[in-house]
Amino acid sequence: MRETFGDNLAISAWHLTDETLKKVFNRAAMRPDKCDFSPGVLLTAKTLPQAEWIEEEIKQFEEAGFKFASYIPKDRIKDYVNTDLYLNGILFKGDEEGRQYGHLNPLKYTQTVAKLAHDVGAELFEHAPVKGVEALEEGGYLVTTPEGAVKAKNVVLATGVNFMRPKGIDYDVVPRTNVPVQTVILATEPIPGKLAREMVPGDACFCDASDAAMNYGRLIPEPDKPGYFRLTFGGADSLAQIQTARAVKGIEKEMREMFPQLDREGIKVEKVWGGNCDLSKTALPVLINPLPGIYHASGFSGQGMVNTALYGSAIADKILGKDTGKFETLQQLNSDSYSANKILAWVQAARTLFPVAVEARKEQKAENARRAEQKNNSAAKPV
Ligand SMILES: Cc1cc2nc3c(=O)[nH]c(=O)nc-3n(C[C@H](O)[C@H](O)[C@H](O)COP(=O)(O)OP(=O)(O)OC[C@H]3O[C@@H](n4cnc5c(N)ncnc54)[C@H](O)[C@@H]3O)c2cc1C
Repeated sequence: MRETFGDNLAISAWHLTDETLKKVFNRAAMRPDKCDFSPGVLLTAKTLPQAEWIEEEIKQFEEAGFKFASYIPKDRIKDYVNTDLYLNGILFKGDEEGRQYGHLNPLKYTQTVAKLAHDVGAELFEHAPVKGVEALEEGGYLVTTPEGAVKAKNVVLATGVNFMRPKGIDYDVVPRTNVPVQTVILATEPIPGKLAREMVPGDACFCDASDAAMNYGRLIPEPDKPGYFRLTFGGADSLAQIQTARAVKGIEKEMREMFPQLDREGIKVEKVWGGNCDLSKTALPVLINPLPGIYHASGFSGQGMVNTALYGSAIADKILGKDTGKFETLQQLNSDSYSANKILAWVQAARTLFPVAVEARKEQKAENARRAEQKNNSAAKPV
């Protein structure tokens, strides 16, 4: 980000995200179960170029005086994730200023946010898709749904990847900001705590630094079986969406390579789910105010848990006339939009994603060859 946007903007964006991280953590902490919050996010390398990038990244954090992240060398990775595949990592944890990195139960968090909104007077209407947004002569908009209509001075289109584009919101008002990229998550059957902790000894969730074919995972406690956990493991492949989602079998193979303990103990995958993420051209969101009273944020590119709270508060500040400058700062990060034409949009996405995916595959092949050579060399050594 520093290279693309310069130091000032990159650091302002970091601070805004950090503030929001605190906000999300504090909201989660309001529930007695803290939305199952568990501390720590481990960003790891599975190839040499990723390991070098991680070393560079941690230097930059140290230079900027950020204390919320620490470098984890190869010989300490297994304290967090017990696999031979990771080369090093950065542990994002938290600091005395209250930034808290970690993972939580997204449903419980969403329910918490809905309750907070309700408590300050928001009315939530489910199953009421907006079919039309019509500008009124006296100002404001008439927003129509099959269940009824409301007049609104401001309309926020926070409609994610599955945007049911209403009449009146054409592409010249809200451009196509993203293409859908599928991500798939597998969950094992419940695993006894001892074995689960043999695979993931720390509390942190983990995610590798691949630009394509990224894997991520964590342990989640099994509510109906105290002391048991499920290992969840996800995969996303930017190229794969252009094929269709990467086969679930492929992700399961990676999970089993990473954790041979699963085969050793005969642990099965029991649940699979997935969904689309709104991938923007640069993987950064888009925030616009195309007409007076119309706001739109999207393109969260699989990282909306914290960022939607940040972009939502920027829109709220703007509507309330609060001069926080958040909206203007975030707008400077806007990604270009895709063509309104769906096929052309896919061609544009393929042009960006294909070289990234090819490069990632080349990198992984080189890494596999390096590991095979290392294995041969150690096998050839006399005992
Ligand atoms: C499997 C999976 C795993 C993920 N994991 C992570 C993760 O670990 N961390 C992370 O940060 N992010 C993750 N994400 C991404 C995260 O879920 C999104 O970035 C986030 O939900 C985007 O929020 P949003 O409010 O923009 O859109 P959404 O959450 O998609 O909400 C938009 C809502 O608007 C509704 N809508 C659309 N059109 C209309 C209309 N015309 N009228 C009324 N309503 C409409 C939609 O139905 C939807 O309910 C994951 C996503 C998936 C699918």
